[in-house]
Amino acid sequence: MIQRVLRRSSARDSQTGGDSDANTAVRLDGVTHSYGSAGGRLDADRDPTVIALRDVALTCDSGETVGLEGPSGSGKSTILHAIAGLLVPTAGSVEILGTDITRLSDHERTRLRRRHVGIVFQRFHLLPSLSARANVALPLVQAGVPRSTRRERATTLLSDVGLSGRATHLPSELSGGECQRVAIARALATDPDVIVADEPTGELDTETGSTVLELLTDVGSDRAVVVASHDDDTLAITDRVVTLRDGSVMSDGG
Ligand code: ADP
Ligand code: MG
Repeated sequence: MIQRVLRRSSARDSQTGGDSDANTAVRLDGVTHSYGSAGGRLDADRDPTVIALRDVALTCDSGETVGLEGPSGSGKSTILHAIAGLLVPTAGSVEILGTDITRLSDHERTRLRRRHVGIVFQRFHLLPSLSARANVALPLVQAGVPRSTRRERATTLLSDVGLSGRATHLPSELSGGECQRVAIARALATDPDVIVADEPTGELDTETGSTVLELLTDVGSDRAVVVASHDDDTLAITDRVVTLRDGSVMSDGG
């Protein structure tokens, strides 16, 4: 039911699309990003300009799960942030459901993200003062879903990730793996068309990891998932693996 409500209009219907294939949910083209310039954050201890991505091209179709692998610092998180519209790359285009989000205003980009993209951050980013259930329900608040529906949906999702007994706990009262599962449940709350997940199983045992991966990828659905991981079990469930080195795509399709 909530799926219907939240999918009532896709970005393809409501916004001027590019000329992407109808099935391409995510398309990066010529994406270059430097931190420390063009609005990137500057850290005095680093080189003033760090080139994190160099001319990256990447696609993920609806219904596809793409893995991103590569050593620490190779640009995985930067790509996920660009897909989620949390940063605008220095150059290149990032199309989500046919819309180049680099051309949107901040407000429009945020709106598109809230409607269509779920994010699992590497460090979870749970709000410390909110219970597990309230954290999971937060994207539904932003989407304007009524309170009773939010509560029901958040309760179901917590149970799906094996945390029924933890709904009223604060993040500080949960283990790392439990926080990770709350973050995953939150990313699923709006049943998004696109999910980006940064090392989503890093804190989980193999069995729990595969359960949450099944939830994230929602096999048989048209959800597009881009997942950064070092974990072979995680990469094994992807349809395609893209390998990065120093901000460049080394191979695509391994
Ligand atoms: P990965 O996720 O593969 O470890 P990242 O995308 O986090 O890689 O980082 C790519 C490069 O960008 C690294 O050299 C990293 O040090 C740099 N970087 C990441 N975030 C920032 C930032 N906020 N400010 C400056 N440099 C950054
Ligand atoms: Mg990273």
